[in-house]
Amino acid sequence: MSRYFGSKCRMCRRESTKLFLKGEKCFSDKCAIEKRNYAPGMHGQRRRKISDYGLHLREKQKIKRSYGLLELQFRNYFMKAERMKGVTGENLLILLERRLDNVVYRMGFSASRSEARQVVTHKQIVVNDRVVNLPSYLVRPGDKIEVRGKAKAHLRIKGAMETSRKSQSVPWMEVDAAALSGRFLSYPDRSDLPAEYNENLIVELYSK
Ligand code: SF4
Repeated sequence: MSRYFGSKCRMCRRESTKLFLKGEKCFSDKCAIEKRNYAPGMHGQRRRKISDYGLHLREKQKIKRSYGLLELQFRNYFMKAERMKGVTGENLLILLERRLDNVVYRMGFSASRSEARQVVTHKQIVVNDRVVNLPSYLVRPGDKIEVRGKAKAHLRIKGAMETSRKSQSVPWMEVDAAALSGRFLSYPDRSDLPAEYNENLIVELYSK
């Protein structure tokens, strides 16, 4: 599977919002959005009228990039969400939240989702006492997620825990910061997820 190796801050500037892709830096005045909140490129500061399609596309890109996914992966989640009972847009967000790399990030064991992916693929995470090295593993309510043995001493993980205290904890997970472990209690309610996400625009985009 290919990956995006370009500038992460550039993605935030394109979406005109903080996507929190770079850990500690996102909370500092070095954040590119704090310094240059306009689209990247030579004509980035020009005012442009955004089309209806553009509006839908930008929303999809924003959410897709927040979770660090490529187009095909994101589309597969959408198709899965469509097949599930309930509201497709909400199902999509819940599926994204259930990814193991996202759960590791939300629990504060990594400073960003890309770092979480690395922590998972390096076999530093155990789910229900078994090593899981698949970032896309879907966590279920009741699952216990823990940093593995020696990895608990890693400064990067400890540093991430410090950074995560600056952001809010989420109500659908409980975390024991000292033990570097946590439990995924339930699927999140829509009201718990970021209000600025407009998942309906994604549903409309893919339904065209
Ligand atoms: Fe986005 Fe973080 Fe870069 Fe700021 S520092 S632009 S929030 S990735």
